[in-house]
Amino acid sequence: MIGEWVYVNGAICAKDAATVSVFDHGFLYGDGVFEGIAVARRAVFKLDAHIERLRDSARYLAIAAPEVDALREAALQVARRNNLDEGYLRIVLTRGAGPVGIRNMDKLGAPTLVMIAQHEVRAQRAAIYEHGLTAVIAATRRIPPECVDGKAKTCNYINNILGFQEAIRAGADEAIMLNDSGYITEATADNIFVIRGGEVLTPPAYLGLLKGITRGVVLELAREMAIPSDERVLVMQDVYTADEVFLTGTGAELVPVVEVDGRRIGAGRPGPVFLRLLNGFRERTKWDGVPLKPESPAKVRSERALRAARASEASLQ
Ligand code: PMP
Repeated sequence: MIGEWVYVNGAICAKDAATVSVFDHGFLYGDGVFEGIAVARRAVFKLDAHIERLRDSARYLAIAAPEVDALREAALQVARRNNLDEGYLRIVLTRGAGPVGIRNMDKLGAPTLVMIAQHEVRAQRAAIYEHGLTAVIAATRRIPPECVDGKAKTCNYINNILGFQEAIRAGADEAIMLNDSGYITEATADNIFVIRGGEVLTPPAYLGLLKGITRGVVLELAREMAIPSDERVLVMQDVYTADEVFLTGTGAELVPVVEVDGRRIGAGRPGPVFLRLLNGFRERTKWDGVPLKPESPAKVRSERALRAARASEASLQ
């Protein structure tokens, strides 16, 4: 369920009143970047890492991002205002609105910044954790990093959507995507891990994939738990013959994959290493987040007054 309050360019507004121009280059060209951030037990998980990645993605596209503190404060404000106990924050930053045409980029207004709260994305998906997902390997290849670097989380997800459509057409839950050399990269909106001979392996980001924040936490957890782990170039055969396969992402957390292209993975159910890492991850989210303190009533009142003043100014014009 979408939260009632949305942040648009410095103001908090009711979700039905939250709008962005049709001339926005995010809409016209997918010219922007975004982040999805988890909120668990009233704490924002890995907020600073997400803000850093958003700013890196923006720098890659040469979009001027607000400073870290401004982004951080706005994200916390949206989460607090929506009383977000469990859920997800979406931050979108685009190049801004202005004349149509990519040759007019110097004539755009300021970048557009939107933040949306969504309650309970980490829904009760007990069945998935119990039974696992099925996946296919997509024919659609990941865009090579020398074209658009997958390390940047841009507003253009057509490549991922084409991959996911293949999964749906094949009756599977997910698609795993290869790069143009045939190496495993990631799933359509999650990173991939395989476990082989007791080692926890995930492809290196230079192959053209998003360096997921959950992926980073899992690698950290593996080190803490003294489970051997590595970033390694993997091929289809490594996935088909793995002891365990799982995906990681902000919305997904860690989800097991029990079948790939009709091959049963391991025992065909969530494996022991996956379960250890999932438990470790859930423990981690209990303490490793920025807590959402209640918003001060004075601040809410002053913002309400500001909005009312803006509204009456607008009605006079
Ligand atoms: N890969 C892609 C393509 C993604 O969109 C995402 C985010 N959903 C991920 C991996 C996982 O990244 P994170 O753990 O930072 O959410």
